[in-house]
Formats: sequence, structure tokens, C-alpha cells
Amino acid sequence: MLSPFTGTAEPSRHRKMQRVTAVILALVISTAAAAQWAKICSSESANKVRGCDSQGCGGYNYPRGGKKHRGVDVVCEDGTVVLAPFTGRLLRQAKPYGNGNAIDDGVQLAGSGFCIKMFYIKPVKYSGSIKKGEKIGILLPLQKVYRGIISHVHIQNCDLTDPTPYL
Ligand code: ZN
Repeated sequence: MLSPFTGTAEPSRHRKMQRVTAVILALVISTAAAAQWAKICSSESANKVRGCDSQGCGGYNYPRGGKKHRGVDVVCEDGTVVLAPFTGRLLRQAKPYGNGNAIDDGVQLAGSGFCIKMFYIKPVKYSGSIKKGEKIGILLPLQKVYRGIISHVHIQNCDLTDPTPYL
């Protein structure tokens, strides 16, 4: 009896076509699901989520002193040029703490279907338009406030949902 798995009923050319179709589909799906935002830290080769250090972990929903981390930390060194992840408008200053410390600055950016706050940067401006990949600011001295931390840009969606899939 002919097994359905070893049978030769299907021509090999058909199988090859199926393989090609599968590869194309996989490419389309991975492109759609992967990064939609440009590189954020100019000195890094790609957006990289901060791992865990003495101060905590950089991923979304990690604990933060009884609360949860409702953003994602993108690795970057102090003093580095930070780039706009998408084209949009700068809406207002956005401060992480409001205590006026050395890293208490940032900006809110909206456009291209996104709305985010970027913390720990000194923005080039607090209003007006900006293009994807354009300089949006400079990373503030995190090492002065949190010695030994993996320095990073904190990015959170305005609605506090998970921004990780856009990186
Ligand atoms: Zn953070």
C-alpha cells in the first residue's frame, strides 16, 4: 500500500514551488512583525533592550519597587546622540521624575501611528516636527544618578502598552 508520506503522486516541481512560497511567506511575515522603528541610539548597531543589572531589568513589565516597568529601556551610552524612531511631532517636555536631577528630562513624540515618551535625553527641541532617524537629543548622564546601570533611553507608549514589538 502506498503511504501518503512516501508516495510519489506529488511532482517534485510542485514541492519546490511550495518551498519557495513558504520562504516568501516567512519573509513577508517576519518583515511585518519586526522592527518598525528606526535605530534609537546612534552608537549601537541596532535597538537592544537593556538586560538586568544592579538597578533592575530593562524589559517591559519588570518590577520597579512595587510597581511595574511600563516601558522598555534601549541600551545607549551617556552623551550619545539619540535618534527619532519615527517621523512625527514633538508635543511637549516629558520628565521621568520631576525632581530636577541630572537625568530628569525627555520629550513626547507622536506621529506615524505612534505616541511615545522618551526619558533621560536632552532633546534638541520640545516642539515641532522631526523625521525618522534625525537627531532628537543627547543621552543624559545616567551613571551620575545610577552608578553601574546599563545606560539607556527609556521609551514608553503614551497608553503604557508594550513598545517592544516596534523596536
Ligand atoms: Zn525604563
